[in-house]
Amino acid sequence: MAEPLSQRQLDDLSADADRFIAELDEETYLHFAGLKDGYELTPIYERHEELTKLETALSVGASVDGNRNTRELWRFACEGYLGNFVRDEAERAAELEATLTAEVDGEEIPYRNLRSSIMNEPDRARRERLERARNELTEEHLNPLHLRAAEVVHRETTRLGAPNYVDLYRGFGFGLDALAEQCRDFLDSTERLWEEAGDRFFRGRVGLGIGEAERWDVARVWRGAGWDAAFPAARMVPALEASLADLGVDLRTQRNVELDLEDRPKKSPRAFCVAIEIPERVILVIKPAGGPEDWGALFHEAGHTEHFAHTSPSLTVEEKRLGDNAVTEGWAMLLEHLTIDPVWLERRLDFPRPREYAAEGAVQLLWMVRRYCAKLLYELELQAATDVAALRPRYVELLSDALKVTPSDTDYLDDVDQGFYSSEYLRAWAFEAQLRGYLRERWGNAWFTRRDAGSLLRELWNEGQKPTADEILAETSGDSLELEAVADRIREAL
Ligand SMILES: [Zn+2]
Repeated sequence: MAEPLSQRQLDDLSADADRFIAELDEETYLHFAGLKDGYELTPIYERHEELTKLETALSVGASVDGNRNTRELWRFACEGYLGNFVRDEAERAAELEATLTAEVDGEEIPYRNLRSSIMNEPDRARRERLERARNELTEEHLNPLHLRAAEVVHRETTRLGAPNYVDLYRGFGFGLDALAEQCRDFLDSTERLWEEAGDRFFRGRVGLGIGEAERWDVARVWRGAGWDAAFPAARMVPALEASLADLGVDLRTQRNVELDLEDRPKKSPRAFCVAIEIPERVILVIKPAGGPEDWGALFHEAGHTEHFAHTSPSLTVEEKRLGDNAVTEGWAMLLEHLTIDPVWLERRLDFPRPREYAAEGAVQLLWMVRRYCAKLLYELELQAATDVAALRPRYVELLSDALKVTPSDTDYLDDVDQGFYSSEYLRAWAFEAQLRGYLRERWGNAWFTRRDAGSLLRELWNEGQKPTADEILAETSGDSLELEAVADRIREAL
């Protein structure tokens, strides 16, 4: 049995965790912004050895006594302990993803560009070849690494004192079982809606119903190329600046926010945000390509950016860097969903047929939430299983049931969110739907143009991740978090 630590020891560990995360984030930034080929986690882990030792995790665990910061630090130490075992696999997987190429129709395509190639490919037969090439690379190169990592994590979890990974997270206070119940209800209550609206949506975009569409059609459907003219690359950043200005935020003069807009060959095509120092150094990385997907991704990452950039410097490390990630994801979604808000589209973009586009956006949201419901149900089985590889057919079964499009079984490990991050997304969608409902009730449908609404957001961003998403909602609208609120939001848009 491990001995509890003194407050002084806990404070030292938390200061060390702060540096550890900053260094990991900096490395993530350099690698994914295309500034550095390698993704070198080992030297960082070596510098912070103490944090990833089994004894550290166990003694922080023994110190948890109802103080939320200590519990967060305990989760962090456990994740560090497990992460340390699989960092070789993580490094190699990232390097492979950055260097592998597929040969399709005589053309070399980098692994990381395959998804965007599928998205941008109008020829269905070629989409299939691209998707199959991606599946083969995943299976051959990445799955052996993923499988080994999953097995190691399962083995080491028991040494942390939990029978399995699911129980470990239950111990961290993740309400996984209640959420799984809400997922099952959501899948039931929106089944017919998805069959009808999803079918119409797929037909409208690629001329195939959901019974006929294959997995290589999905990214193409998502791409929404028909709407490109309305979402030009050149207007992305100006539209973001103007939207933030309405809320009282001047992006250009925010000294703690860096906008990395430079085009580099190995830069991730998808926008991302890294909060290296909170709130002193937050970077928003984008390679503006235009189109509805790209706009949504930029606004999403801008939501993270503003949340972290407005976080109070006086909060503890745990309240700034750890805590409930449904909070930051909720803020990200609130801004992201402006781009499917008919009122925003009309005002900000003098958009053609905004209601039609907003309805399509709602169908995409329905797909996402149903997909994550199925993913969480799958991950709960996977993370409690003794034989991980045996869950491969279950992945296909649960995802096809929810989506009516069959995924590739080769994604059964790659498509897993570590640390039950899928549950944070699900709670974030509920949080966003309910908070948006509250903002509209209070300031009208154009709430995002109201300086007062901006003041409230900035006040809430200032609290970092000290309160949970549930607490923020209770303190503003007085509601409790309900996934079904997302279904209501979708029905309204349709
Ligand atoms: Zn996010």
